[in-house]
Amino acid sequence: MYERCVGLAWCSGCRVYAANMVHIPRAQRLVDALATLPPEHRERLLRSETQLIEHLDKTRAWGV
Ligand SMILES: [Zn+2]
Repeated sequence: MYERCVGLAWCSGCRVYAANMVHIPRAQRLVDALATLPPEHRERLLRSETQLIEHLDKTRAWGV
């Protein structure tokens, strides 16, 4: 029924960061925020959570 995913939350101002397990319904399509990146860049970001968050922060893809 559900896919288990890692949910990341952070505050750029305080540099506070948290990760937890979330359940996403299988029918729900998640947006790939890295879809437009060249493959090498994408792989580099996926290897480092710190770099990934910095990138998402800059592009404001997931700003709340
Ligand atoms: Zn804050």
